[in-house]
Amino acid sequence: MLPASKTERLSGWGRASLAACRSFRPEKRRELVALAAQADNALIARGLGRAYGDAALQPQGVVRMERLNHCIAFDAAQGIVRAQPGVTFAELMTLFIPRGFLPPIIPGTRHATLGGAFACNVHGKNHFRMGDFAEHVLSIRLLLPSGEAVECSPENNSELFWATAGGMGMTGIIEEITLRLMPIASASLQAMTCRVANIEQMVGAFEHYRATNDYLVGWIDHMATGDAIGRGVFEAASHAPAIDGATPLGDYSAPPARLSIPFFTPGFLLNHYAMALYNRRRFAKAPEMPEPSFVDFSGFFHPLDRIGGWNRLYGKRGFLQYQCLIPETPTIAAQLREFLTMIQQHGLFSCLAVIKYHRNGRGYLTFPIQGYSIALDFPNSPAARQLLPVLDEWVAAKGGRVYLAKDALLSAALFRRMYGNAGEQWMQMIQTLDPKARFTSLMSERLQWKAGR
Ligand SMILES: Cc1cc2nc3c(=O)[nH]c(=O)nc-3n(C[C@H](O)[C@H](O)[C@H](O)COP(=O)(O)OP(=O)(O)OC[C@H]3O[C@@H](n4cnc5c(N)ncnc54)[C@H](O)[C@@H]3O)c2cc1C
Repeated sequence: MLPASKTERLSGWGRASLAACRSFRPEKRRELVALAAQADNALIARGLGRAYGDAALQPQGVVRMERLNHCIAFDAAQGIVRAQPGVTFAELMTLFIPRGFLPPIIPGTRHATLGGAFACNVHGKNHFRMGDFAEHVLSIRLLLPSGEAVECSPENNSELFWATAGGMGMTGIIEEITLRLMPIASASLQAMTCRVANIEQMVGAFEHYRATNDYLVGWIDHMATGDAIGRGVFEAASHAPAIDGATPLGDYSAPPARLSIPFFTPGFLLNHYAMALYNRRRFAKAPEMPEPSFVDFSGFFHPLDRIGGWNRLYGKRGFLQYQCLIPETPTIAAQLREFLTMIQQHGLFSCLAVIKYHRNGRGYLTFPIQGYSIALDFPNSPAARQLLPVLDEWVAAKGGRVYLAKDALLSAALFRRMYGNAGEQWMQMIQTLDPKARFTSLMSERLQWKAGR
């Protein structure tokens, strides 16, 4: 029997993409199977809506997976967990950190589901070392557009496995995931933090620390100009052994949000002056010389989760997140400088700017290639909507790409340029798999991935 449906106004996390959608919230597998077998309307799976744009929006049918959230089996000797796709990173961490295991790849919010993580093939601050989420997934069970369920892994049905990893829900609904967790000895990281004076020093810090650390990340003060463009705070961290000062595994508990934003604040609060002040303070507070310390998992992995509903800070019009990857070349620092300057020349600045280093990812639509990604947040305004296509052109010309989990505006033509032959092969595969275009989203319609229904 089909689960009940209702019409609700849904959005991506940026709240700039909105749609009234008929939504289903199956609680049992048989309801999910009935939905997948139903042929009369388009569907898209949705986790917790943490993709920023229109990836999990479909007015005809959104399948909310959050109630299919049970861990089915755990092999404690191997650290292998089999779970339903609605299980979140928060739940996995609460359950398994006390047992000595951590998801090997953790995105910047713990409120993402495993299904969403596989469908976006998410990365963490350790991408340069550990790769993408899907590289740690042993198998998935997928409900195909035909209604049939199929097991896929890197060994069996591997093309389907890699077309689903990063495939943004286009191959069907992931209904089970088997993931290999990573053993850890404590619930702390040994971190090193320091200021960097500009983008050249930032790149230098990534190069210096990448061989010896598990995680690397940089925060950029995007208000700094001239020589200081790209100045910020660099952090390198590695898992701490069970030593004095590190949090014992058994003491880990998921922290509640310290503060919650219950309503939309006026968007102008995040204005140029307020952000310049905040950035100056943050930069000034960071140590000038590398300073070691123990940091807890939530502070390092999920600083934004400390403020519940922080996306409301941008006001009712929401915001656009833009994450692009610029391939590594000998002139990478100059390219990053050019990129950050170009945004300033358009009179815009990013409220938050984060830089990470990546190796090549696996899969047709997986975002990372070897290089640096920069994630930026812009209040949703006509000026930002004009700027992003300019950035898209620039990124494509450098052989880079934008991250679909963050995207709301990319054009079909630029998607094809950025994702190249692998993207073309993937589009052919999903059209063969789903000739009637049963699984589509506003994103897939915008990017023209499947012929119309
Ligand atoms: C604060 C914040 C920080 C973030 N940091 C990072 C980061 O560091 N690295 C990173 O890679 N990403 C990051 N993201 C993006 C986020 O991790 C991904 O968008 C993730 O997919 C969101 O999971 P979700 O469960 O909310 O999925 P949704 O947003 O609901 O869906 C995302 C996509 O997955 C598909 N999908 C969801 N469930 C299924 C399923 N069961 N079967 C098939 N398809 C499915 C949807 O159709 C959609 O295309 C961040 C997001 C936020 C809000």
